[in-house]
Amino acid sequence: MPYLVTDACVLCGACVFGCESGAITEGETQSHIDVNLCIECGTCERNCPSEAIIYVDDAEVTAKLTTQVTTQL
Ligand code: SF4
Ligand code: SF4
Repeated sequence: MPYLVTDACVLCGACVFGCESGAITEGETQSHIDVNLCIECGTCERNCPSEAIIYVDDAEVTAKLTTQVTTQL
């Protein structure tokens, strides 16, 4: 049940700066949240000026993301 960044992200950097877990990095078109580092504090969702961060309450999506991240390591 992770937080995700949508394509509404304008790369303002607020979430990267505000994440105490260091779970967010800026990509070329939007920021990305590492679900393995995120402690789901919700700070990024509250601080995003574009409302680009959403909470996904879906076990299948979580499993898929976790697999993707693990595969990339
Ligand atoms: S705070 Fe929102 S708009 Fe800014 S970089 Fe993060 S996700 Fe993107
Ligand atoms: S929910 Fe908290 S720990 Fe997770 S990415 Fe957002 S600010 Fe970082």
